[in-house]
Amino acid sequence: MALLNRSQWYDLARDTNWTPSFVSEDDLFPPDVADPFKMSKEAWAEYDEPYKVSYREYVRVQRDKDAGVYAVNTAAARTRFMEECNNRWKSLLKFHFGAVSLAESCSQQSEGRMARFGKAPGMRNMATFGLLDEIRHGQSQLYFAHDNLKHGQTFNWGHKLLGTEEWGSVMARSTLDDVFLGRDAVTTAIMLTFAFETGFTNMQFIGLAADAAEAGDTSFSNLISSIQTDESRHAQIGAPLLKMMVKHGLEKEAQKAVDIGFWRTYRFFTLLTGCTIDYFTPLEKREACFREFMEEWIIHQFERTVLDLGLKLPWYWDYFIEDINMFHHGMQAGMWNFRPTVWFDVPAGVSPRERDWLESKYPGWNDNWGRVWDVITKNINAGKPELSLPMTMPLICNLNNLPIVKNPNGKWDPDGQSLVYKGRRYYFQSHVDKWVFEQYPERYSAHTTVTDRLAMGQIEPTVEGILTYMGLSEVERGKDAENYAWAYAHRAQPTKAAAE
Ligand code: MN
Ligand code: MN
Repeated sequence: MALLNRSQWYDLARDTNWTPSFVSEDDLFPPDVADPFKMSKEAWAEYDEPYKVSYREYVRVQRDKDAGVYAVNTAAARTRFMEECNNRWKSLLKFHFGAVSLAESCSQQSEGRMARFGKAPGMRNMATFGLLDEIRHGQSQLYFAHDNLKHGQTFNWGHKLLGTEEWGSVMARSTLDDVFLGRDAVTTAIMLTFAFETGFTNMQFIGLAADAAEAGDTSFSNLISSIQTDESRHAQIGAPLLKMMVKHGLEKEAQKAVDIGFWRTYRFFTLLTGCTIDYFTPLEKREACFREFMEEWIIHQFERTVLDLGLKLPWYWDYFIEDINMFHHGMQAGMWNFRPTVWFDVPAGVSPRERDWLESKYPGWNDNWGRVWDVITKNINAGKPELSLPMTMPLICNLNNLPIVKNPNGKWDPDGQSLVYKGRRYYFQSHVDKWVFEQYPERYSAHTTVTDRLAMGQIEPTVEGILTYMGLSEVERGKDAENYAWAYAHRAQPTKAAAE
């Protein structure tokens, strides 16, 4: 008997919608978790997933992908890359596994929500495969982190991070709760799959994979590029919804979800991707700088996709384009300064040659961020590295939970960055973070940052008290990744700014 082609049976086979008779439609799909925009049945019937795959095809392809990932890992172990790579690369891996492993598990729940509460069968079908994808990602990231334990005990933060009150964990949980876990199926699809996965996962999983391949870490490079092949498929769940919303008079609501989802996940990923690409990766292995990756993956591709769907660029786009030249430099300086508060040794990434590279990629870097590093470099060379360690906690943004940083030459705009809500004052990294807060003040206002908790007396107010609160035992706390070799190099070869 001749087999039918997939296109001949697919629509019929996946069309599992029926008219409920024992319960109402709203009981089956409660609007709060399914579709608070209340799009009509006719509108939902238009959902057309751009990526069509059958279960049989899916399983075959995924099996091959997984077999490849683990085979490459076994083969790579023979090259002794991990035994021979420097501390800096290990830090990059520890940072990645901590930030990403359990975030993959969180996306399992998001995909599960879309798989159950999406009102179009095509959406549920894609999300079911998306759920299986995220199970694969969570498991393989944890497996690789675990496999690396012999190369450093804090690889266990791949599993540990989200259960602690470490500041990066509080930031990650607050973003994941807001974008991945705490929204209805439609908004989750827009914020997670469209705003986040369409752009940002490309950055971490393709941008970093290129650097990793260059650095000789074939196993890690292969793992994350394999994951990205799934991401680029299930990232397509959101776009058909946006098309439907624009067509059925919900353009404003669609735009707002894109604008919020994009901004929240941009902040989240910039800390991880911006710092690792521009500061952690060995200089000679860098394929492009963070800004160049952003231009390629976000500015060009995301811009085109948004406009094609009949939406506008987020209202803060001009500010965003400036921000990609600024924010992560501040995060890097802060993360290095607060190195005991993270679970990996932090490379400064500002040796003389690296500073020249930063200046060439971000003209003006020396006059802005370089000034901060000049003081640090001078103190280390004067034999006073303790002056570069934190004495207390910084002011933290009440929306994104990251320390508030500014270009040292930039203007401080306190009114644009704080507000009072029900008698409490809130501070923000920027007017965009403040705008997000203002969209749903009840959603965000009860949350406290780690610094708020310190001020409220919930944490013992000593450096030891804070680090213990964050779950960092003495041996887990980060140090300078290169024993200050980068600073000593400035003695022999001072930068122009330091020589003056
Ligand atoms: Mn994933
Ligand atoms: Mn995903």
